[in-house]
Amino acid sequence: MRLFLALVPPPALRRRFGELADTAHAHCSGRRVPDDNLHLTLAFLGEQPERQAEELADWLNGIRIAPGQWRLDRWGHFAGPGIVWIGGEPENPLVQLQQSLREKLEGLGIASQPRRFTPHITLLRRAEQPPGPSLPDFDEEWSYTRAALVLSEPTDQGSRYTPLAWSRM
Ligand code: ATP
Ligand code: MG
Repeated sequence: MRLFLALVPPPALRRRFGELADTAHAHCSGRRVPDDNLHLTLAFLGEQPERQAEELADWLNGIRIAPGQWRLDRWGHFAGPGIVWIGGEPENPLVQLQQSLREKLEGLGIASQPRRFTPHITLLRRAEQPPGPSLPDFDEEWSYTRAALVLSEPTDQGSRYTPLAWSRM
């Protein structure tokens, strides 16, 4: 089972990110991430046996993450894979959260990626243009309280995500 830990935006914010994805797509082309898939990856766990998934679900059900607020106000670009993303200040509490989850996973004997974390939400993949100055300004605040363990499965229409478990509120 292909698994990752993520923060999932509440529906209204997800729709707002979807609008930004549409805007970015109009400027940069590429493959737009569908609204249902918009998320922040905290830890990519890769292929794990079902047994391990159950243990991870139990573990996450029993922990609380430090709740926080993430201000998103800038466009970003990973040139290699042509990823266009939105994010905020590079130094923010998500970095600490990601690091602490990575350490906890290590304690469970599970390696996770990435090692160097840039908090971001991917909007486009294989974009043909980088995000340029013609893209509009935005300023959104996301109050998050829990993390999800998500199953990623390939389908004809791309990856389908299913949350398997949540951390405590
Ligand atoms: P697709 O691979 O079909 O384009 P996807 O990338 O959304 O879709 P997954 O590959 O299952 O689906 O990835 C799930 C999440 O984990 C995504 O946020 C993705 O960016 C992230 N991810 C995948 N592989 C890695 C990796 N090696 N290191 C860090 N993050 C990763
Ligand atoms: Mg992928």
